[in-house]
Amino acid sequence: MVRETFTSRHIGPNENDQKEMLKAIGCASIDELIEKTVPASIRLKGKLNLPKGQSEYEYLNDLKKLAAKNKLFKSFIGMGYYGTITPPVIQRNVLENPGWYTAYTPYQAEISQGRLEALLNFQTMVMDFTGMEMANASLLDEATAAAEAMSMLFAARDRKKAKAGQNKFFVDENVFPHTIDVLKSRATPLEIELVFGSWKDFDKSESYYGALIQYPNQYGEIEDYRQWTEECHNNGIKVVVASDLMALALLTPPGEWGADVVVGSAQRFGVPMGYGGPHAAFFATKDEFKRQLPGRIIGVSQDKAGNRALRMALQTREQHIKRDRATSNICTAQALLATMASMYAVYHGAEGLEKIAQFINAKASKVHGELKRLGYDVSEAPFFDTFYVRMDAAEQLALRDFCIAEEINLRHEEDRVCISIDEATTPNDINRLVRGFANLATQDHVELGNEDFVFENNFPAFAKRSSKYLQHPVFSKYHSETEMMRYLKRLENKDISLTHSMIPLGSCTMKLNAASELLPITWPEFASVHPFTPAEQVMGYAELLDTLSTWLAEVTGFHSVSLQPNSGAQGEYAGLMVIRAYHEHNGDKHRNIVLIPASAHGTNPASAVMAGMKVVVVKCDENGNIDTTDLRAKAEQHSENLSALMVTYPSTHGVFEEDILEITEIIHQHGGQVYMDGANMNAQVGITNPGIIGADVCHLNLHKTFAIPHGGGGPGMGPIGVAEHLTPFLPGHSVALTNEETNINAVSAAQYGSALILIISYGYLKMLGRDGLEEATKHAILNANYIKARLQEKYPVLYQGKNGTVAHEMIVDLRGFKERGGIEAEDLAKRLIDFGFHAPTLSFPVAGTVMIEPTESESKEELDRFCDAMLCIHQEMEEVILGIQDRDDNVLKNAPHTLNHVCSSDWNHGYDREKAAFALPYLKETKYWSPTARVDNAFGDRNLICSCPPLEEYM
Ligand SMILES: *Cc1c(COP(=O)(O)O)cnc(C)c1O
Repeated sequence: MVRETFTSRHIGPNENDQKEMLKAIGCASIDELIEKTVPASIRLKGKLNLPKGQSEYEYLNDLKKLAAKNKLFKSFIGMGYYGTITPPVIQRNVLENPGWYTAYTPYQAEISQGRLEALLNFQTMVMDFTGMEMANASLLDEATAAAEAMSMLFAARDRKKAKAGQNKFFVDENVFPHTIDVLKSRATPLEIELVFGSWKDFDKSESYYGALIQYPNQYGEIEDYRQWTEECHNNGIKVVVASDLMALALLTPPGEWGADVVVGSAQRFGVPMGYGGPHAAFFATKDEFKRQLPGRIIGVSQDKAGNRALRMALQTREQHIKRDRATSNICTAQALLATMASMYAVYHGAEGLEKIAQFINAKASKVHGELKRLGYDVSEAPFFDTFYVRMDAAEQLALRDFCIAEEINLRHEEDRVCISIDEATTPNDINRLVRGFANLATQDHVELGNEDFVFENNFPAFAKRSSKYLQHPVFSKYHSETEMMRYLKRLENKDISLTHSMIPLGSCTMKLNAASELLPITWPEFASVHPFTPAEQVMGYAELLDTLSTWLAEVTGFHSVSLQPNSGAQGEYAGLMVIRAYHEHNGDKHRNIVLIPASAHGTNPASAVMAGMKVVVVKCDENGNIDTTDLRAKAEQHSENLSALMVTYPSTHGVFEEDILEITEIIHQHGGQVYMDGANMNAQVGITNPGIIGADVCHLNLHKTFAIPHGGGGPGMGPIGVAEHLTPFLPGHSVALTNEETNINAVSAAQYGSALILIISYGYLKMLGRDGLEEATKHAILNANYIKARLQEKYPVLYQGKNGTVAHEMIVDLRGFKERGGIEAEDLAKRLIDFGFHAPTLSFPVAGTVMIEPTESESKEELDRFCDAMLCIHQEMEEVILGIQDRDDNVLKNAPHTLNHVCSSDWNHGYDREKAAFALPYLKETKYWSPTARVDNAFGDRNLICSCPPLEEYM
C-alpha cells in the first residue's frame, strides 16, 4: 500500500514542476538554490529534532484519542466565558467555510465587501447594545480591550493636566481578575498609576484621568453607577465600563448613563469558549474619540460610480503611518469571530436575542431561589445571570466533591462560590447543580423543567432597559435558515479568498489552511472548554500545548515558549516586556532604547512604545539591508541605555542578510538583547532559526507560517520563544497559572491566548513533521524565485541576495511606471482584481512597490496564471507609456471593472469591453466580478460613518 503523505498535499509543485521551475531559475537542484540563498554561516547543521510527519487519517485518529482526555463538565464558572449555542447555519457557512476563513484582512476594499458588511453589522450591533456612538471591529479579548481604553484615554488627556502629572487610573475591585492582570502589565511601562478599591469609596481627585468599573460586576451584581459617573465627569475623569452584550439585551446600556468607553467580549454570541479563545472583543466609545479609537474601524464610503461601498477607515493604517507615535499596536484582531457574533445577532434579531437573555435570567433566578430555599446564604443584589453563595473553604471543599460527581464546575473564591448561567444551560444541567447543593445540605430537591423558568423582569427601575436595539432591517430579514444561508453565501461571493486564487501577500504568508488542520476546532472536547477548567479535566489540552511548545522551541532554536500572546503584535509587546523585566532584574532599569531598522513593520515601533521604550531608527543601505555602520554608531552612542534591537529576518525586503551574525553581536556587545520579528519564519523553518542568528526572543505568527487561517483579519496567535536566560520572565496569569515572582503580568485574558486555534498549528507540525517542514520552506523559496525568474525582465526586483536570489518573497518596483506613465502601484493592484487576483502587499516596506510572496502551497500552474496576469498588465502599462492608451482613461485607472460597467450601454473608453474584462483566455472560464468599482478612501475619511446606514442607501 502506498502511504499517503500530507506533505504532497500541502506543497503545490510536483516533481516535474519542480524541475521546470529550477530550469527557469537556473539552478540544477533545489539544494543548490538554497545554498545560493541562505548564507552558510547560519545554516542549520543537521535536521530538526522532530518526528516524521503523519497522514491526515493517522493524525485525526490520534487526535481523537487526545481529545478524549479532556472531560466535558458543564461550566458554571462564567468570568467572561459562557456556554453558547452556535447556530449550525453559522458554524457550517462561516466557521467551517474556507470562503470566509481563508480571506485576508480587508485592505483591498473592492474584493472585501462581503466581510466588510459583516463587520459593519458587528459595529452597529455593538453600538446598539452599549448605547454608544462609535464601535470598532474588533479587539483581541476583553482584558486587552480594557487596557486599550486605559491607554486611549491616557493619550487623550488634556495637555495641561498631563503636564501637571495627571496619571492615575482607578480600577474597581470587582472587575475580573484577569482583566486587572492585563491592566497591570500595560500600565507599568506607560507610567500610569493604577489604584484599586471599591467604586463607592473612590475619592475622584484631580490626579485621576480615568476609572474602570464592570457592569454587571465580576460577581454578577448590577449596581447603579449613574450618579457616580456624573461625579467622575464633573471632576474631569473619564469612565470606562466593562460589560456584557447579553446582559445589555435587558439592562440600561452604559451609553445611557454617561460611559465614555464600553468594552467587553462578544464570545457568548455564538462563539465557542475554546479554552480561552479566539473571540471578538468590542470597544465602543463617544464620537469625540473617533480619531483615537484603537483597532480596525469599518466605514461607509462610495465607489467611483458613486455607489455605496465599504472600506476600513483611516485608523486602519495607523501604525504604518504613525509608527512610534501610534497609541495602539493592534493589527490582526478577531475578524472571523466578529463576523460570527454579528451573524448570531442577524439570525436571532432583537426579539430572538431578548428572549435568549430573558431565558438565561429566568433560569438563573430559579436556581437562585432553589438554593435559597435549601438554606444557602445567597447574594441578594440584583443580577442578570451570575450570583454567589457565601461559603467557607471547608464547605466549598465538600461541595466540590458533590459537583465532581455531577460533572459540573463552579467558580470558587475565598469566601464564596459563584454560579453563572448561560444560553446552553439545560434543565438537566440545572438539576445536577441543584442536586449537588441539595446533597451537601442533605435535603431533597425537585426536578425542574423548561416550564419552570419564567422571566419576571425583577430588575430595579434604573437597570430596566427601555431603549430598542437592532432596529436596522439587516437584523430582521434573515431569520429563516434559507434566508440566512443565502445572505451568508451572497456576502461570501462578493469576496476573494484562497478558494479563488493565490493571495500573493508579502509578509502575510497566505498558505494552505488544510481541512484536516481545521476540522478538530469544532469538536466539543476542544471547543466547549472553559479556560479556567480545573487542570485534571484538561489533560488532552495540556499534552497538546506541551508538545506544541516543545516543537516550536525546537523550530526556533530557543529554550522555551509562551503560548499566551494573541497576535504577532502582542507577541512583540510580550517579548519586549520580557526583555524589559530581564534588564530590570539585572539592575539595568535605565536600559530603554530600542533600535529599529527603517524598514520594520509598523507594529514594531508601536509595540516598543507600549513597552515603555524609546525608538531609535537605524538606516538601511541601498540594498535594503541594515546599514551596519549606522547600527554600530547608534549602538555605541546608546550603549549605556541600549535595551534591544528589533530585527526582521529574512529582512522585510525579502533577503537573508549576510551580516546578521555581526549585527546581533554588536547588540550583545553593548549589553542589548536581540528581538527577532518572526513573521518571516516561512523562509527559515528547518533551514536556519532565530537561535542560530543570535536572537534572544522572537514571536511567531502562527496565522502566517503555521497555517492558522487569516479569517479576514483574525484570529491569530503570536507565541514567543526565548533563550534560557529570559525564561523566568515569560508572562504569568493570575487566575490560571502558578506564577514565580519574576514572571511578567499576563498579556492576554486567557493563559494560553486563543488555545482553540493552537490545534491548527499543532496539526500542521504533526502532519508535515521534520522533513515536510523543511520541504515546505525550500518550496516557499523555490516558488518565490520562480516568480522572480518569470517577472524580472519586465519588472525590476528591488533587492536580492549576493547570488541574485530572493528568500520567500520579493519587492517589485513600480516607481518607474509612475514616472513614465503616471501609473500608481495602486492601479496595478486594482487591475489585478480584473484578473481574479488579490493584490500583493502594497507600498510596504517601500512606497510605490508591491511585495509578492507565493508560499509553498501554490502549484506551478497557479504561479504561471499569476505571472501571466502580471505580464499582461505590464503590456497594458507599456501601452499607456507609449501613448497608445490615454493616461487617465485606461484599463488600469478604471480598474476594477464591474459587471454593471462592462454591460452598460454607454461605453466610451479607448479600449473595448473584452480587454476590460477578459484580457486572458482563462478569464472566460473563471471570472471574478468585483462588486464595486474603485472605492474612494478620502471620501470615506471625510464623512466617517461607521454603522449600517438607513436601508434606502443600500438600494
Ligand atoms: C504580520 C506582521 C506583524 C504583525 O502581526 P499581527 O498578528 O498582525 O499583529 C509584525 N511584523 C511583521 C513583519 C508582519 O508581517
